[in-house]
Amino acid sequence: MFDKTRDTKRLTNYFEAFFPIGANPDGISVTRLGYTEVEDEMHALFVRMAESEGFTTYTDEVGNTYAASSMAEPYILVGSHLDSVVQGGRYDGPAGVIGGLLLMVLLKEAGLDIPLRVAAFRCEESSNFGCATMGSGLITGALTAEKVQKFKGRDGVPFTEVFTRRGHSLTPKMISGLKAYFEIHIEQGKVLEETRTQIGVVTSIAGPRRFSIELRGLAEHSGATPMGMRADALCAAAEIILALEKIATAEPDSVATVGVVHNTPNALNVVPGLTQIGVDLRSITNDSLDRMESAMRTTVQSICEERGVFPTISFTSGTAPVALSPVLIDRLSESAERLGISYRRMPSGAGHDAMEFPPLCDTGMLFIPCEKGISHNGLEQASLEDLLEAVYVLFDTVTRI
Ligand SMILES: [Zn+2]
Repeated sequence: MFDKTRDTKRLTNYFEAFFPIGANPDGISVTRLGYTEVEDEMHALFVRMAESEGFTTYTDEVGNTYAASSMAEPYILVGSHLDSVVQGGRYDGPAGVIGGLLLMVLLKEAGLDIPLRVAAFRCEESSNFGCATMGSGLITGALTAEKVQKFKGRDGVPFTEVFTRRGHSLTPKMISGLKAYFEIHIEQGKVLEETRTQIGVVTSIAGPRRFSIELRGLAEHSGATPMGMRADALCAAAEIILALEKIATAEPDSVATVGVVHNTPNALNVVPGLTQIGVDLRSITNDSLDRMESAMRTTVQSICEERGVFPTISFTSGTAPVALSPVLIDRLSESAERLGISYRRMPSGAGHDAMEFPPLCDTGMLFIPCEKGISHNGLEQASLEDLLEAVYVLFDTVTRI
């Protein structure tokens, strides 16, 4: 019943229309930061695309854009985002939006009266304001006017000022009338590619828990201080980093990353006296996060005691992991089976707009492979044929829920 050649062409046309927007001089990457003119351009194009397919479009009070086949409720919402990180790729976000649009076109052509809308959310990436899923968070209540007060853009302008200037509201009407939420997204990892699987049915979205650890030792002359008499903060940091690697490896579906190291005075002839590291723990269950945090605290204490270094551990931010709807996980898996598309159930290590919807409605998510797992990079590549398979799976599922 599906015409793969025609539908691939349609996805290609949508994708290529977005292609030049926010392109960088490197000829590879795009920069489409949330709540900027480049992101506006992406949304304006989405409106033109959806309207030329015969759909109604509208914008909510925080700037998210929607295309609707009808305004009937309850409705199925299929969404993703159109912003990118700095020097990002072209599939992270837009793949889900154009996939949703094609799904709506296919339902219309099949004469199926299923109320469905496609959402393009604002500012999913934390690259501009240091806060992720802003557009979807504000209309689902996950993000409040109070929480956004502290955020500033990369250019130093407060988020609240950007919002006021744009005529948006920090106390918008909450989204309602939802029957289910779905999102298609590139995997941003290499599990699908390496296992040669076409589709990932997402079971849960990992929550991050982040810490800043300050290690205070003693800065001394590197030549005159014997090895046994040092309080080297950077050596303590090195031990902690490797211990965290072990802690996360022992925990199922969990990761720990130290992506930030600030060393003081950072001089060749001085024993490091003060080192600060940034720790990012992620897991799909709170239990795992609790265990990792507790192991981290104990380990930091014992390493530092041994070395005469004084640690201060500060919690900086965190989000609870989110389980997606077991019913939709089953439905999506059945649809893949019916269509003869290979799939695997898997957690998402990265955050997505989909994590804001489980409190409101059943939520399901599909991954498509991305080449070598590369993402948040101009080299990000995914196949529109794979995206099409995900659209077909979703088509099958939305006709059966
Ligand atoms: Zn994304």
